[in-house]
Amino acid sequence: MKISSVTCPHCHAAYEIAESTSALGSPGQADCGVCGTLLVAWEEPSLRAFRLVVPPEHKYPRVPTPSCFA
Ligand SMILES: [Zn+2]
Repeated sequence: MKISSVTCPHCHAAYEIAESTSALGSPGQADCGVCGTLLVAWEEPSLRAFRLVVPPEHKYPRVPTPSCFA
């Protein structure tokens, strides 16, 4: 098992890629599960699993809305 990582160029969500070194897969591609942007495409017959590790909202926390407008 080979582990690498990729960050979505559009929304900056971070993914961990687990690539099997024993099982054969097929060429393919992976899209960002958050915004749908193409993350990576590969030509080799490899088996890859993608896991979201850092949702984009964790990298860009929303500014809290003030609760008092008086
Ligand atoms: Zn994205």
